[in-house]
Amino acid sequence: MCNHGGFRSSAGLHETLALLTSQLHPDANHDQDLLFLKDVFSERSLAYLMKIHDKLKLYEKHSPAPVLHSASCLAEDLAEELHSGPMESDERELLHLLNTPHLKAVLSAHDTVAQKNFDPVLPPLPEDLEEELEEESVKIVRLVKNKEPLGATIRRDEVTGAVIVARIMRGGAADRSGLVHVGDELREVNGNLIIHKRPDEISQILSQSQGSITLKIIPATAEEDKLKESRVYLRALFDYTPFEDKATPCQEAGLPFRRGDILQVVSQDDAIWWQAKKVGDCNLRAALVPSTQFQERRLRYRRKMGTYPTAVSPKTAACLRRSFRLRKDRQAGSPVDPRTPDSPQTDFLIYEEVTRYQTRRGERSRLIVLIGSLGARINELKQKVIAENPRHYGLAVPHTTRQRKTHEREGVEYHFITKSSFELDVQHNKFIEFGEYKDNLYGTSLESIRSVLDRNKVCLVDLHAEVSAYAKALKSLRTAEFKPYVVFVRPRVPSSHCRRLGSTSSLSTSVTEDDLEEMRQSAEQMDDLHGHWVDYVLVKEEPAGALQELQSVLERVASEPHWVPVSWVRT
Ligand code: 5GP
Repeated sequence: MCNHGGFRSSAGLHETLALLTSQLHPDANHDQDLLFLKDVFSERSLAYLMKIHDKLKLYEKHSPAPVLHSASCLAEDLAEELHSGPMESDERELLHLLNTPHLKAVLSAHDTVAQKNFDPVLPPLPEDLEEELEEESVKIVRLVKNKEPLGATIRRDEVTGAVIVARIMRGGAADRSGLVHVGDELREVNGNLIIHKRPDEISQILSQSQGSITLKIIPATAEEDKLKESRVYLRALFDYTPFEDKATPCQEAGLPFRRGDILQVVSQDDAIWWQAKKVGDCNLRAALVPSTQFQERRLRYRRKMGTYPTAVSPKTAACLRRSFRLRKDRQAGSPVDPRTPDSPQTDFLIYEEVTRYQTRRGERSRLIVLIGSLGARINELKQKVIAENPRHYGLAVPHTTRQRKTHEREGVEYHFITKSSFELDVQHNKFIEFGEYKDNLYGTSLESIRSVLDRNKVCLVDLHAEVSAYAKALKSLRTAEFKPYVVFVRPRVPSSHCRRLGSTSSLSTSVTEDDLEEMRQSAEQMDDLHGHWVDYVLVKEEPAGALQELQSVLERVASEPHWVPVSWVRT
């Protein structure tokens, strides 16, 4: 635009536009084009755009750089944290501000700019490149970058002299394109062969190219890719729903999982959001899961603020208290030192690192631990498994302080010991669990388990302890020595509706609706408290079917690999 008629070259676009408009004097009758132009120039929105442009020009001089790329997430995080606790008036005001649509829009615009999500769409590749693409290993990559560096470092292979991509910077142009990978061999940049160039010359070519940049690449071999693949597998100990997680940088990119799922973590580059895939899932794309550190941090925070759901749901806690009462009423005693459901939980249940494990020839077999909710009758089930194959399966013989009955033999039904030696054994932590029944003490010792395993048998243990003391018992058994496989047996409890319709069930008809409700709650409570350590849930319909199912599970434990904590295998 020429500089005449009073326009100052230094004037901003907005001012220039205003001056131009004021100097247009179209004759309404003769000059339709000028009239149209004046109308366009007088448009308010155009004036606003020009103003924005001028403001941005001013800031361009300072070359501002974003401090973070996800201000919206930070704001949501903050809002969530504010929400979860009592608020002062200024915190309430901040929460209100953070929730206003305008501020949200500004932060979202900020993130779009910071993440440079406005890259142009690339033109199609020139046709003459197609022949080269026929060569199976060559890949032509076009990506867009501005003045920033490519975001990749290179090294020269000492043996072949090839230029290899050594590292990809997260969030850089190469990373954002998703087309360049560590181990790729770089052949050409914008048509220039680089094999004979020095690394600093290559870096210069790379950093100087702007806009669309074309790289000719020989992709890393599949072997290298496999080596790079992470071998970290985690068992999830909690349920995760990305759509309920306000802190995630992108809910759609989250990986929903359930307690017990095995996750393969493919990237832990980010300290907060790991990338993972679900084992057995046909979706090959990795998605985001919270890191252990982050999950622990927010659980710790929620616990501090009193919004953390305790180890048991309120319903289960109520049910547990009721169950204690019922058992106390029925039995002459309750276990010494039961862990109450309200006692503080020290470890958060997040993930457990696992690996595939199969018992090898000559190795001790894995310990089989049976836990059962009310009505499961696991003792009966265990006895049947052993009775059908006593050479293969053995039972950990419990200790008791009660009198031996005439038909009983020492070391077969029980080890009969005195109360004082029982108490001494308790002091020496010899029992995995113990309890009191009609003024007599009963308990299962670690030694009795070892003696079965030493005879090369598969040892079956059922926990007699109160449900609340299971955690302690399971903890003492979850070691490399025993490698326990935990089976949770729960009876199938028909719904009241089905019962009214007269559906068949193995449960006696004398069982009342209250009994059924108690069984349902017992199973729920067991699942709530210990479900995360369970390897197999057996829903018991009728005894014969349950026995058959348990036997086939036990065969699979011996003959197939299963996921176990890495600490049981790596020494
Ligand atoms: P009995 O004296 O009739 O053989 O057994 C009485 C009760 O003692 C059984 O109902 C069973 O629940 C309990 N009991 C048997 N063995 C053990 C054990 O090892 N630990 C605990 N806590 N209770 C046991």
